Amino acid sequence: MRAGILTVGTELLVGHVVNTNATYLTAALNELGFDVYFHLVVGDNRMRIREALSFLEERAELIVLTGGLGPTDDDLTRDAVAEHLGLGLKEDEVWLAKIEARKGSRGQTPLPREGRQALLLEGATPFPNEVGLALGMAVRARGRTYVLLPGPPGELVPMFERHVAPYLREAFPGGRPLVSRYLRFLGLEEGALFARIEDLVRKQGDPTIAPYTEEGEVILRLATRAATPEEAQEKLAPLERAVLERLGPYYYGEGKETTVARVLLDELVSRGATLVTAESCTGGELASRFVSEAGASKVYLGGFIPYATDRKAAWLGLSPRKLAEEGAVSAWSAVELARAARRLGGSTYGLSTTCAAGPAPADGKPVGTAYVGLSAPEGDRAYALRLCGSRGHIRVRLAKLALFFLLK
Ligand code: ATP
Ligand code: MG
Repeated sequence: MRAGILTVGTELLVGHVVNTNATYLTAALNELGFDVYFHLVVGDNRMRIREALSFLEERAELIVLTGGLGPTDDDLTRDAVAEHLGLGLKEDEVWLAKIEARKGSRGQTPLPREGRQALLLEGATPFPNEVGLALGMAVRARGRTYVLLPGPPGELVPMFERHVAPYLREAFPGGRPLVSRYLRFLGLEEGALFARIEDLVRKQGDPTIAPYTEEGEVILRLATRAATPEEAQEKLAPLERAVLERLGPYYYGEGKETTVARVLLDELVSRGATLVTAESCTGGELASRFVSEAGASKVYLGGFIPYATDRKAAWLGLSPRKLAEEGAVSAWSAVELARAARRLGGSTYGLSTTCAAGPAPADGKPVGTAYVGLSAPEGDRAYALRLCGSRGHIRVRLAKLALFFLLK
C-alpha cells in the first residue's frame, strides 16, 4: 500500500516552520503498514494543491494532506480537494453545534467564517478535533483514499492517534507494519564501520540495513515488514547476529532513543559501582549527559571541572612540574585526573577528559588531540584519540567516547 503526504502551507516554503507533520505522519503510516513514497509541500495555493494531488493519486492509494483547514481565506485545502474530486461540501450539523458550544462556553459567538471548519466533503468520514475547531476527514474517491488533517501539530497528532489510525486499520486491513531495530556503535568512523559490513549492505533484501550517523556515533537501522513481533524477530535476528559478530567491540546498545549514558548507568547499577568525573575540555558535558538520565544519583557521585592548567594542580593535586613536562593535554594528565577524581571522590571509578578542542591548538597539541583517563580497581589507563570537526563536535564526541570506554 503506497502513501503520499501533501503538506500545505506557505510558511513551510519560506523556512518559517519545520515540517514536523511530514516526519510524524511518515513514521505513523509506516507503523500502520504503508510505504510512504512521496512528501510534497505546496503553498496556500489552490492550483498547486490540485497539481500535487494529480501527481500523488497516480502513485499512491492513500493521500494524506495537512494544513489549510482553518477559517481564514488562505485556508484552501478543503475547497481545493472538493473542486479536484468534483465533490460538494456540506456542513456537519453536529460539528457546527460543537463549534457554537465551544465558543459559547467562552461567552463568544462563532464568526460566520469559523463555520467553514465544520464543512465536510460529500460522503466523507469526519474526524473530531479535540483541541481545535477544524474537522478532519477521510473520503474515498477514484479508488483512492484522501485524508485531510489540520496543520497545527497539537491538533493533528491526537486526531491521528484517536481517529485516523483506527480508520486506516479498518480501511486497509492486512497491513504489515515496518519494524525497525537501531544498533548503536561508538569508537569507529562510519567509513571503517561500513567497510566491515559492506557485503551485508550490498546483498541486502529483506530485511534492509542502512547506516547513518548521529553526533559522532554510527547507527545501523535494520528494518522489515512483519505482521507480528515474533515474525519481525525471526526475520531480524540472523542479520543482527551477523552484524554483531563483526562489530561487537564497538556496539553499545539498541534502540531509537538509547544513549550511551543510559546504557552505562544501567551497567554501573548492576555492577554496584559509583563514578566521579574530572573534566577539562568537556567542561561538564560528561556530567550533564550522565545526570540527564533518570536514576543517575544511584551511581554518579559528582565531578570536578579543573579547566585551567594551574587548577589541575591546585584542586586535584597534579604535580606542577610534571604538568609542565607532559602538558595538560597528555595521557599522563588524563590518568592523573581520573586517579584524583576517584581518590578525592571515594568512588569505584574515576573518569577524565582532556583535549585540544580548537579552534586553536592547545598546550602545543594540534586540534583534535584528546585523551580519556580511566581509573578503576583493576588499574588505571589512558585512551589516546584524534578527533576531527568543530569545537562542539569534538567535545560531544569525546564525552560519549569516555562513557563508552568505561562501559567496555
Ligand atoms: P489553523 O486553524 O491554525 O489555521 P490550519 O489547519 O489551517 O489550522 P495551517 O494554517 O496550515 O493549518 O497551519 C497552522 C499552523 O500550524 C502553522 O502556522 C504552523 O505553525 C503549524 N503547521 C502547519 N503545517 C505544519 C507542518 N507541516 N509541520 C509543522 N507545523 C505545521
Ligand atoms: Mg490556517
